[in-house]
Amino acid sequence: MSMIHDVDPATGEPFAEIPCTTPAELAAAVARARAAQPAWAAMPANERAELIGRLADDLVTHTAEIAELITREMGKVHKDALGEVQGYAKNVPLELQEVLQAIEPERFEGGASETVLVREPLGVVAAITPWNFPVGMPLSILIPALATGNTVVFKPSEHVPLVGAKLAELLNKHLPAGVLELVQGEGAVGAQLVDSDVDMIGFVGSRATGQHIMTAAARDLKRLVLELGGKDPMVVFGDADLDAAAESAVRHSLRNTGQVCCAVERVYIEDSVADDFAARVVAKARDWAHGNGFEESSKMGPLVSREQRDKVEAQVKDAVERGAALLLGGTTPDGAGNFYPATVLANVPADAQVVRDETFGPVVCLSRFSGDEDEAVAQANDTPYGLGANVWTGDKERGARVATRLKAGQVGVNRYLGGAPGTPWVGARQSGFGFLGGIEGHRQFTTPKTICTA
Ligand code: NAD
Repeated sequence: MSMIHDVDPATGEPFAEIPCTTPAELAAAVARARAAQPAWAAMPANERAELIGRLADDLVTHTAEIAELITREMGKVHKDALGEVQGYAKNVPLELQEVLQAIEPERFEGGASETVLVREPLGVVAAITPWNFPVGMPLSILIPALATGNTVVFKPSEHVPLVGAKLAELLNKHLPAGVLELVQGEGAVGAQLVDSDVDMIGFVGSRATGQHIMTAAARDLKRLVLELGGKDPMVVFGDADLDAAAESAVRHSLRNTGQVCCAVERVYIEDSVADDFAARVVAKARDWAHGNGFEESSKMGPLVSREQRDKVEAQVKDAVERGAALLLGGTTPDGAGNFYPATVLANVPADAQVVRDETFGPVVCLSRFSGDEDEAVAQANDTPYGLGANVWTGDKERGARVATRLKAGQVGVNRYLGGAPGTPWVGARQSGFGFLGGIEGHRQFTTPKTICTA
């Protein structure tokens, strides 16, 4: 039997083995979800929401246990793991309210008929998720998919199978049988799920996997929401509050050991202040000690895997070979665990891998621009990605102007990105296809249908 070997990324020690779902088991799980769907969809939406909403209390009760699993499975600093569980528990009722609003029937009048627009569930949704926010990312799909009346077959990342299983267990205490099915395994199991008898794939993960899924889904025109990777730029003009900008650049390059889809991955600084800015960044990044996520002193845990660390190491090496200055870090520690230190690169050329490809590691990547707005915008937009972007300037009008020119789904002006409650989470260009959150995001788990009556 094929197994997931669950390894602690801080020690390299295996601590659990989880059987992968076989093709026959996967087909049976999808069939159970298919059978359960009509009754689930027929249940009044507020009753569905009430059952799903019980998860919020369960997350609170089980916060310590889940946070411990998160740190063990993917290395997140324990305090942040606690914060993730608590934050998403709080969000559950708000999101359910939003879903109920999103699927309210709408009435239209005109011509000879009255028309009602209803939003029907799609059927069975495959939820395929990454490991970097092992509670948050699954919930961003499970809640709208289930609350709109779909049943779900959920495959958590192979790096966090136990967190995924715990989430499914807590929800399944309250849901009718078959409404939420769990399958486990690596990418091959995800691919089988995409090929199976599902109507929609809700996916959060890398651009490359998103491309595979889109290709596979094309055969049956399965519906898709894909939230993918990023290469977010931050543009800093000379008149910006440099200390606040440096603080934000460091925090959002290093948080979660850089393993955040909307991490700041490239910083473009106006030439005249670039040295000053780099000095501030180095001073702040020095505080970001790495270590086992369970240790109080750790501000960054390990990277999730050796493979991920090798990729970060190779990108830093490539940048230095192409002429970047290594101002901090950049040396892979000896010993067990997938640790990599907070690293600052300056004067990074545009053709370096660390500028072109998603890094997903603890690197602050500093490049320069002359001060010309067009040049800054062109550099920032020189990527196929379009998740987030940030602009920092003391000139309000320029901030607003550059924000409209940056090709991204979410832009922060003199702050990190992050929309108010109710706004969607959008990856533009190749950072997504469809999007999650907000009324419009929730509606993507439904198909609109008009019923007109004479
Ligand atoms: P990944 O694409 O390697 O894996 C994601 C999930 O897809 C896993 O469950 C994996 O088993 C599964 N999978 C792999 N190959 C598959 C295939 N061919 N068919 C179906 N499923 C398959 O990504 P990851 O390493 O788990 O996560 C990191 C990536 O996720 C980064 O690129 C990050 O930017 C992105 N991400 C995006 C968002 C967002 O909101 N846009 C949020 C978090 C993470």
